Amino acid sequence: MNDVSVSGLAERIARVEARVRRACEEAKRDPGSVELLPVSKRQPLELVQEAWRLGYRRFGENYVQEGTAKASAFAEAAFLLLGPLQRNKTRPALAHFREILSVDRLSLAQRLATQAAELDLTRPIWIQVDLWEEATKEGGCSEEALAPLLESVRREPRLPLTGFMALPPPGFPEAFQQMARLREAWQDRLGLPLRLSMGMSEDLEAAIAAGSDQVRIGTAFFGAR
Ligand SMILES: *Cc1c(COP(=O)(O)O)cnc(C)c1O
Repeated sequence: MNDVSVSGLAERIARVEARVRRACEEAKRDPGSVELLPVSKRQPLELVQEAWRLGYRRFGENYVQEGTAKASAFAEAAFLLLGPLQRNKTRPALAHFREILSVDRLSLAQRLATQAAELDLTRPIWIQVDLWEEATKEGGCSEEALAPLLESVRREPRLPLTGFMALPPPGFPEAFQQMARLREAWQDRLGLPLRLSMGMSEDLEAAIAAGSDQVRIGTAFFGAR
């Protein structure tokens, strides 16, 4: 074996890292302040392990079952849950994922808090926000439902609040500005720093320009699914 990987993973990663760096330069942001989170859904574990050897330690997964299987087989890596979470999967989600980015309703947050105490676990969570209800069907908390959800979550020491995750409709970069304003408003209101997870393969530049702290990259990182 020589240094050129058969999968082409190292080359794809170099390209996407360069995109992140350039976007940070243009936005006059420190490149170290933006996390590139590889999204490994529907990708084989071997590719995750190859990314691990190239320095990546945290991976986003969409499905509880698939992520749980990967986390069990490769315990060194940290898997983060990005996809919709049903109430009957909260316990395995807490057990196997280090962070949950798709908390979007009060009943789910309360169930996670109860079970985190039972399992004696602490799991940083992000609130998935959907300001564009007509456009996306992926879940997410509406603007009206946000206040009671945040007030409840901030009282749960087992679920430290990290920030907001968003999956805006494609081709609508103003969505990132809306998220940035929402973050500002809630940081002031809660007196807490809040991170923004937004931007994917197609639109990471616009997300970074608007202030995203974490871009979640599937296709541009691992290749087609
Ligand atoms: C699949 C997915 C991503 C990555 O999408 P790409 O377009 O492949 O980069 C990011 N976030 C979520 C929530 C996803 O489901």
